[in-house]
Amino acid sequence: MTTIIQTALPVPLPRLFDYDCEQLPAVGVRVRVPFGNRELVGVCLGQALAPDDSFQRKAVLEVIDDEPLWPQPVWRLLEWAADYYHHPLGDVIQNAMPVLLRQGERASYQATTRYQVTEQGAQQSPNDLKRALQQQRLLAALQQKPLLSRDIRMQEFSPSALKALQEKGWVEAVEHIPAPVQSWSLKIAAEPLQLNPEQALAVAAIGAAKKQQTYLLEGVTGSGKTEVYLQAMADVLRRGQQVLMLVPEIGLTPQTLKRFQQRFDVPIVMLHSALTDRERLDAWLDARAGSAAIIIGTRSAIFTPCKALGMIIVDEEHDGSLKQQDGFRYHARDIAVMRGHEEQVPVILGSATPSFETLNNALNKRYAHLQLSRRAGQAKPARHVVMDIKNLPLKAGLSQPLLSLMREHLEAGQQVLLFLNRRGFAPALLCHECGWLAQCRRCDAYYTVHQGSRQLQCHHCGAQQPIPKQCHDCGSTQLIGRGVGTEQLEQLLQEQFPDYPVLRIDRDSTRKKGSLQQHLQDAHDNKYPILVGTQMLAKGHHFPDVTLAALLDVDGALYSADFRAAERLGQMFTQVAGRAGRASKPGTVVLQTHHPEHELIQDLINNGYGHFAQTALRERQLTYLPPFSQHALFRAEANNAEAVIAALEAIAALFPQRDDVIVLGPIPAVMERRAGRYRYQLLIQTQQRGMRAQLLRYVLPQLEKLPQLRKVRWSLDIDPQDF
Ligand code: ADP
Ligand code: ZN
Ligand code: ZN
Repeated sequence: MTTIIQTALPVPLPRLFDYDCEQLPAVGVRVRVPFGNRELVGVCLGQALAPDDSFQRKAVLEVIDDEPLWPQPVWRLLEWAADYYHHPLGDVIQNAMPVLLRQGERASYQATTRYQVTEQGAQQSPNDLKRALQQQRLLAALQQKPLLSRDIRMQEFSPSALKALQEKGWVEAVEHIPAPVQSWSLKIAAEPLQLNPEQALAVAAIGAAKKQQTYLLEGVTGSGKTEVYLQAMADVLRRGQQVLMLVPEIGLTPQTLKRFQQRFDVPIVMLHSALTDRERLDAWLDARAGSAAIIIGTRSAIFTPCKALGMIIVDEEHDGSLKQQDGFRYHARDIAVMRGHEEQVPVILGSATPSFETLNNALNKRYAHLQLSRRAGQAKPARHVVMDIKNLPLKAGLSQPLLSLMREHLEAGQQVLLFLNRRGFAPALLCHECGWLAQCRRCDAYYTVHQGSRQLQCHHCGAQQPIPKQCHDCGSTQLIGRGVGTEQLEQLLQEQFPDYPVLRIDRDSTRKKGSLQQHLQDAHDNKYPILVGTQMLAKGHHFPDVTLAALLDVDGALYSADFRAAERLGQMFTQVAGRAGRASKPGTVVLQTHHPEHELIQDLINNGYGHFAQTALRERQLTYLPPFSQHALFRAEANNAEAVIAALEAIAALFPQRDDVIVLGPIPAVMERRAGRYRYQLLIQTQQRGMRAQLLRYVLPQLEKLPQLRKVRWSLDIDPQDF
């Protein structure tokens, strides 16, 4: 008998859609439906209780799945997220699905290629391949067990070594269809380390909890957080349960993965950007079937269904990449905490520099606070130096005292790390005669000079043009770069220290696939005594031979309009400090600034991140800023500024006037014009989350009827991170 079902579709409309269906699919089953003159893949939400009869209902074309894609807890999580972020459920669901499932592909395995040793290959001794180390390593691994292409890539075996082994007839490729469920059991492959008392306390606390709990594991880099994860995971895996771990976008290095593999002889899947769509689906299926014991991934992996989840870990929980910045603007850390509740499993948030939100939750006891205050092993804390550069001549942003210090460390055979958060050669091109600055025509921004590519580039809209030979205003040929970017810094360092090769790591130097990993490996192996990079380099990487690290330009953050700038500076400094030095070589961290006396800097240097954060938190409390208030931000943009302002004013007018609600704006975005479009925003601030939700539930349905909104592109950001 035909029923009417309600579906969530991948359209940016805050509503659900009814269709006729032959039978009633379970909630969470995908259906293919006609929509306008297209076909969409949506998800069934059950029977339509109050079907909308005002239009001609169409019929479902195909019921794709036999059973819901997600287990109950994840399904509830998706519904919660749609509600919390006031975002259409259909689009939330899209974000939670691997690409192939969005396209309507079956949720089942397909044959893939698997590599295994031939009979002949089984008898070879890898040691005989002395002069082909790559082949040696791969052959040894394949003699242990066959590997899928994705494993081969994940473990960074070389494709040419694979080919060579195949040509020798030692390795063959076979068609392989994975079994729907593969079982595993925990074998501890390597002996765990002897924990120090703080680590032991942390592991014990996590293991002993009687009820669901979120933990903040706070510890400086190198304090042994990963070791705590590993030992806490062991208990979970021993029970046959799975662990889901989130890492920052480029946070998981091959070294870390190797550490997991060495410790646990269980199936590990990684969900990262280098996977093909098929591989990503297979990994998702492995997690859902319980065939994968450990699932490691970036932001969107938080929605991965797991058969028997036992623990969630969010490493570097303060990292900005956990927040999605467009479309469905969720924060994967907050979703992780909610998932912990839904699944009744512990959540560990780890960081050397916890976000103020998380820290506040720990201080008021909502999260259990576990601290590792010392570096594991024998490593000593780094020495902090504030370098006053007022009135000092600077060479490409470097002061003479810093250059001397660098020389000392380099001559002692050690590595030096410099941070500058500006890529390119110079952040602006200036006419020395008349003061003209080359400005992007479509943005309120100057062009960055890129000498490598001989281009002016706008870092905001991507516009490019050759570096002009003459000033556009006065025709002078005296054009000079103003300010310093990483490219220039690299050049200067090469001149100053001709005997010490420089490696630059930024978005420009790592465009090629795999080049970032290669650079990081080279840096780690001390192939380059001097490392230069943007904040890309500050994320979760260990460079054991670095004994001197310097932040060249921090003054911008001290006087920024963004109330989170200080938090980020504190995190950056502390993260960098954590990279310097190790057991036998204590490190030094230098901060160059024109404001050495600044309160924030003094607090950070003298009292450490924890104290600095608590001071800053008290300030936020006094000024009612998050986490002591709740933000929602409407953003709007269009080619015409008046239209944008009118749209946001119309939204603002819908909010009731109340003492406990602040409606701020419309005000221009930090960059008012980008790519030719005018951008404004409207900030809603409430004391309580409940009030924010109520207000938005009242206001949002009325927006459809506002004519002013049709002329602009607008979006809503709950808990916005930067604005
Ligand atoms: P984090 O994740 O906090 O940066 P790691 O767990 O990676 O710290 O530990 C840093 C280094 O210290 C690693 O080389 C690790 O092997 C070592 N280490 C960690 N815990 C111990 C311990 N209890 N005893 C000896 N070495 C340890
Ligand atoms: Zn000029
Ligand atoms: Zn531009």
